[in-house]
Amino acid sequence: MSYLVLARKWRPQNFDEVVGQESITQTLKNAIKMNRVPHALLFTGPRGVGKTTMARLLAKALNCDKGPTDTPCDQCSSCRQIMQGTSMDVQEIDGASNTGVDDVRQLRESVQYRPSSSRYRIYIIDEVHMLSRGAFNALLKTLEEPPEHVFFIFATTEPHKVPQTIQSRCQRFDFRRIPPQMIVNRLVKITKDEGINITDYGLRLLARQAEGSLRDAISLLDQAVSFSGKEIKDEKLNELLATVDRRYLFELSSALINAEPKKALKILDHVYERGYDLKQFLKELIDHFRDLMVVKFIDDPSRFLDLSQTELEEMKKQASLASEESLIPIFEFLLQAEDRMGRTEHPKVVLELVLVKASSIKPMLKVEELIGELQTLKKELLSGKIRIDKDDFELMGGPALDSPAQGDAGASGGNLKAEASVEQKTWLGFIEFLGKGWPGLASMLKNGRLIGEDNNQIRIEFPENDFCLDFLKDQAEVKKLNELASEFFGRSLKVICTGRSDPGKVSEQATPPGVQREKLQQELLNHPLVQKAVEIFSAKLDEVKVK
Ligand SMILES: [Zn+2]
Repeated sequence: MSYLVLARKWRPQNFDEVVGQESITQTLKNAIKMNRVPHALLFTGPRGVGKTTMARLLAKALNCDKGPTDTPCDQCSSCRQIMQGTSMDVQEIDGASNTGVDDVRQLRESVQYRPSSSRYRIYIIDEVHMLSRGAFNALLKTLEEPPEHVFFIFATTEPHKVPQTIQSRCQRFDFRRIPPQMIVNRLVKITKDEGINITDYGLRLLARQAEGSLRDAISLLDQAVSFSGKEIKDEKLNELLATVDRRYLFELSSALINAEPKKALKILDHVYERGYDLKQFLKELIDHFRDLMVVKFIDDPSRFLDLSQTELEEMKKQASLASEESLIPIFEFLLQAEDRMGRTEHPKVVLELVLVKASSIKPMLKVEELIGELQTLKKELLSGKIRIDKDDFELMGGPALDSPAQGDAGASGGNLKAEASVEQKTWLGFIEFLGKGWPGLASMLKNGRLIGEDNNQIRIEFPENDFCLDFLKDQAEVKKLNELASEFFGRSLKVICTGRSDPGKVSEQATPPGVQREKLQQELLNHPLVQKAVEIFSAKLDEVKVK
């Protein structure tokens, strides 16, 4: 038994046997019944999904002695000739090998002749996008006014390469990939009829490998029969298709989910020893995690998965043991690794690294949990339970507070009065002073930056919508702050805190270097505290001291 035998034997001979293209079938049947089939049709879609088959069926329907009919008889000479590929009036042309102007010129001449023995002359041009520009131009003239007795059926896997001028003269039909379940159903029928024994797992494996192409699926089935006879065992099929035994995928994914790097590496070793292609293995591992996510997030996952019932149950079990917070990062990580695997000459080493890393990923915090933690942090900041020590600036990579840049101390300009005014250095001293008795106030003031002193008012600017600002505008706090500032600086002072978007905004021109440094520090502070909260909670919490 050869591939041709099975594929030919099971090629659909009427519209109702065509698998997975129901809407196209229906449209064409209606057009035939109403005698309104367009004279130029463009069939697009992936390979092996039924474009050429549909074209032949349409030719048969148009030319059947009893037609045009949507149920050609298969008995008349026209039907039989078309089925055997010997009809003089139905020409199949391979666009890939007849690309030139001359070929099309020949075609244009033949178009003028009446059909020899049938109703119509029908041209089926496969892979039409391969035609040369000149050939397309020559074809265009015929398409502009096709003779009544002529039909063109173009098929292509790459419609974007077919010029718009051609497309606009055709009615276009987009063939879709055939869903795995439909392929399986068809394979079940074929194997039953042919007396081939294959498991449900085997059928689904074939369907999965065929990636939506029924022709490929049948061809693979043929190969399997040639390889192992009519009793197709799962192991033999795995061997033939070089697919990974799915047990490895289940075991390895469990190891990743349960964060067991040693176990993961051990399984990889087995896979490697069995001689599997590791790049392919990673691909299947990614598919496995994709399936797990579908099972986890979708109520009726079977519609989206091409798995046997047993596999689906196993998948559900595994998904129920994994949290969504652990699945997503592993999946993302594997996806990123695929690109790297494609480029490396050491796939095993790379995959080992990938597996160790993927099994060490800490689950992500849920957003709600994160917000909860932020709110707790905010409360503790306000209550003074947490204060951010100046050493922490340095830990975070900021400049040290105690080592101002050269010449900084005497810097003046902009809004700063030359003497007897609060400068950057003295302001930082004040914050330090506050830190000893009022750490909450101190850490909040660090969030703002000194603009300058004007009429005994110290102006501090805060980032827009800074939560410290609300707190610092509270009357009791304002009073306390003013008292403390007056005490520290030895004269009556008011501290005015504003947000950056406030109308009373102070000009940012001529910012003294010290202020820039302060600003830098504030940005550092703002950065991990608010904007990159995730990092604080997963990795940098130890840089905020709790006292
Ligand atoms: Zn017929």
